[in-house]
Amino acid sequence: MSLDGDYDQANVFALILKGQIPAVRLYEDEHTLAFLDIQPQSKGHSLVISKWSQARNILEMEDEALAQVMGTVKKVARALRQALNPDGIHIAQFNGAHAGQTVFHLHFHIVPRWAGGPLGFSAHAQGAFADQAELKALAEQVRANL
Ligand code: AMP
Repeated sequence: MSLDGDYDQANVFALILKGQIPAVRLYEDEHTLAFLDIQPQSKGHSLVISKWSQARNILEMEDEALAQVMGTVKKVARALRQALNPDGIHIAQFNGAHAGQTVFHLHFHIVPRWAGGPLGFSAHAQGAFADQAELKALAEQVRANL
C-alpha cells in the first residue's frame, strides 16, 4: 500500500479496537491503546495506537492524536523500563508498504533492547508468534509499573 489511500475499517488494529479480535492490552485511556505485539522483535515489544484517529500514517495524523499517542508511548516505555530493565528502547514507526508498514492504522513500536542483542530494526511482522500465556504474564509485569 502506498502513502495514499483510504482507511480500511477492517484492518487488524481497527478490529482490536472494536473488540472483534483479542489483544494483550497493557494500557488504555480515553484516546489511546497500548498492547503487546503478536510477533515480538524482543521481550516487551509493544504497540501504541490512537482510538479515534483514522490516520493510516504520520502524514495524515491529526496533531492532537499524535500528541496523545506520544504521551502513551512515553508512559509505556517508562513502564517497560521499570518492568524489564532493558539497556535501550527502540521506538519506530513506518509509513507505507515500501517503508515496511504492514498494518495501515498509524502505530508506534516500542522495542526494549538488551546489550548483545540485535542493533537496529530488522524485518518485522515476520518472526515467530509469541506464546499467548507468556504475553499475558508479561503484560501483568508491565502493568504493575504503570
Ligand atoms: P508495521 O509493519 O509497522 O505496520 O507493524 C505492524 C505490527 O503489528 C507488526 O509488528 C505485527 O507483528 C503486529 N501485529 C499484527 N497483527 C497483530 C495482532 N493481532 N496483535 C498484535 N500485534 C499484531
